[in-house]
Amino acid sequence: MQQGILIVLSGPSGTGKGTICKELLRSMPELHYSVSATTRPARTGEIKGVSYHFVSLESFQQMLSQDALLEWAQVYGQYYGTPRQYVDEKLQNGQDVVLEIDVQGAMKIKEKFPQGVFIFIVPPSLAELSVRINKRGSDTPDAIAKRLGCAKTELSLAGSYNYVIMNDEVAKAVNKIRSIVTAEKCRTVRN
Ligand code: 5GP
Repeated sequence: MQQGILIVLSGPSGTGKGTICKELLRSMPELHYSVSATTRPARTGEIKGVSYHFVSLESFQQMLSQDALLEWAQVYGQYYGTPRQYVDEKLQNGQDVVLEIDVQGAMKIKEKFPQGVFIFIVPPSLAELSVRINKRGSDTPDAIAKRLGCAKTELSLAGSYNYVIMNDEVAKAVNKIRSIVTAEKCRTVRN
């Protein structure tokens, strides 16, 4: 059986990649979302086991020691990781998997799955990104400054991805990603 495709979405905090990812999954229900494990507390509206597997630091460390994570990274002082079993099983069954992870994690995945499809989502500009992060209202001024600093570093890594999508409008960005996924499914050779 042909292996499924691993689709990796990254982009600076506040680019709207979460919204894009949700819309993509809604419009392509055949894609499977890999729910990450994280040590950060749940935000209002987030659902256990759907948004994230919210775990203690001890549980996260246990997953690491059992080699149960395909990749992991520390982001804004919290740990995030991709459970290995879910991804491996889906891909082996010929099903396509979507990861929404940060650039450090994406680069680790690229080493293990060079044939993956790496998509980087960017805001129309850094000024726009600053407006979006401020609008969210969920971050302190210090956290906002940190996120913007990280965004600049992350943007410089866009060249390591196969595709760069500008999120000026969610529907347009999602359509572009749908086209990429459709084209990748028709590819003859995966390198
Ligand atoms: P948030 O806390 O805002 O949901 O996510 C913070 C950052 O962690 C985002 O850039 C998100 O893509 C990233 N992230 C979420 N899950 C994972 C994961 O499993 N691995 C890595 N490396 N990053 C993740």
